[in-house]
Amino acid sequence: MKNIRTLTFVLITLLISLLVGCQNSTDSEASAEENEQQPIIIQGPMPIEAENFAAKLENVEEETSGNFLFYKGYVEDYPVIVMKTGKGMENTAAATAIAIEKFNPAAIINQGTSGGHDPDLHVYDIVLGKRTVNIGSLKTGHREDEEGIAPTEWIPMDLMASEGSAGEDKDAENIRYFEGDEGLLEAANAVKDTHEEGKVVEGTIGSADVWNNEVDRIQWFHENFGTSVEEMEGAAGAQIAKAYDVPYLGIRTLSNNKVNGGEYTPETAEANQEYVYEVVKQYISTQK
Ligand code: SAH
Repeated sequence: MKNIRTLTFVLITLLISLLVGCQNSTDSEASAEENEQQPIIIQGPMPIEAENFAAKLENVEEETSGNFLFYKGYVEDYPVIVMKTGKGMENTAAATAIAIEKFNPAAIINQGTSGGHDPDLHVYDIVLGKRTVNIGSLKTGHREDEEGIAPTEWIPMDLMASEGSAGEDKDAENIRYFEGDEGLLEAANAVKDTHEEGKVVEGTIGSADVWNNEVDRIQWFHENFGTSVEEMEGAAGAQIAKAYDVPYLGIRTLSNNKVNGGEYTPETAEANQEYVYEVVKQYISTQK
């Protein structure tokens, strides 16, 4: 009887010390995570839109996931990850979701080149995405066999309006704008003057896997969607960042502007990264 009691006592003591041990180790893991600063993520689609910024990072380690390349490093001792996402909406959406799941970022900046929709904007100017919109998200009019196609009759389609059919739902016939994060916009506006090659303005970034070269169509988007520029990534990243509630901003330089004869100038990509580097330093100073 005494033996059984002693055995029970020993077993219970063992069990309690095991449980307490587990508790301690999860506590210390949690505090390690809390101490770790959440990184700022900078996305660039093409090598010319990511490599200049990546070269500015300190203590860089490279990591890949699928097609996506992450340069993990520091700016002034603060963790910053530059990602080469590849071009287009699908790459950007997937890369954004993976980056959020992997790195739990404090903020995401999607940056690179774009084509002008606004005649007042010129090559080397920069648009801060106060709003971002998917300009490939459209519903066509109803036309029968042999009635042709009429793109200027197309209306916007909001895939986020409901979980029901966007084809039938009248609520889905609206433009869905994703708002740029206020804190990131503030940091970007604060260092505007560092960009000497052109002006920096707030505006609307339109995205789709389309390169529009028809000036009338470009003007149609400018008038109906209020677009300042077009590119192929911003709205895809914005949609995913919103799903996870991560602060997000698009920052796009004009590498071309068909509306006022601005010829494609790839060097704008580097100048944009120089500016975004200043934005990141400014944002970090507000986080500390
Ligand atoms: N002209 C480049 C190809 C760029 S492909 C070349 O010949 O190498 C499109 C990429 O450039 C996308 O990442 C997109 O975001 C950006 N882009 C720049 N100007 C654009 C425009 N006018 N329309 C659409 N995307 C544009």
